[in-house]
Amino acid sequence: MNSILVSACLLGVRCRYDGQTKPCDEVLRLAAKNNVRLIPVCPEQLGGLPTPRPPCERRGKTVVTESGQSKTAEYTQGAKETLWLARVFDCKAALLKERSPSCGCGEIYDGTFSKMLKKGDGVTAELLKQNGIAVFGESRLQELCKAVLNE
Ligand code: SF4
Repeated sequence: MNSILVSACLLGVRCRYDGQTKPCDEVLRLAAKNNVRLIPVCPEQLGGLPTPRPPCERRGKTVVTESGQSKTAEYTQGAKETLWLARVFDCKAALLKERSPSCGCGEIYDGTFSKMLKKGDGVTAELLKQNGIAVFGESRLQELCKAVLNE
C-alpha cells in the first residue's frame, strides 16, 4: 500500500494558525480509497507551536512573525519531525497545503505580510524534497495520483 503524507488542515483538522481548517473534498475522497494510506501531519504543531498562533512568513532562511520574531527553530523542528514520519511510513510523496511557510511548494508568501507571493518552498516542503520525497500542492492532486497510484 502506498503511504502519502498530507497536510492535516486539508483533511479538516483545525490546525491552522487561526485555529481554522482548509478541508479539500478531493483529498477527503482520496482518504477513503483502499489503495492508499494518508499520514496526516501539521509541521507547525509538530514543531511545538500552539494553535492558534501568529501567522509567519519565510524571509530568506528565517521564518518570522509580522513583528519580526523568529520562529525558525520551531519551523525547522516541525520539518524534521515530518521527515521522520515520512521515513517511518515509507512515504514517497506528500500532498501539502499550498502557499504555507511550512507546507507550500513552488510558491509562498514573500515575507512582507502583504499577500504577495514569490517562488519558493515552505520549510517542510523544502526538506522533504531534499530527501527525495515528491511534494505536490492540493491543486496537483491528479498529478500525484498518476505518479504514485498510476491512476
Ligand atoms: Fe496546514 Fe501545514 Fe499549516 Fe499545518 S503547517 S496548518 S498542515 S499548512
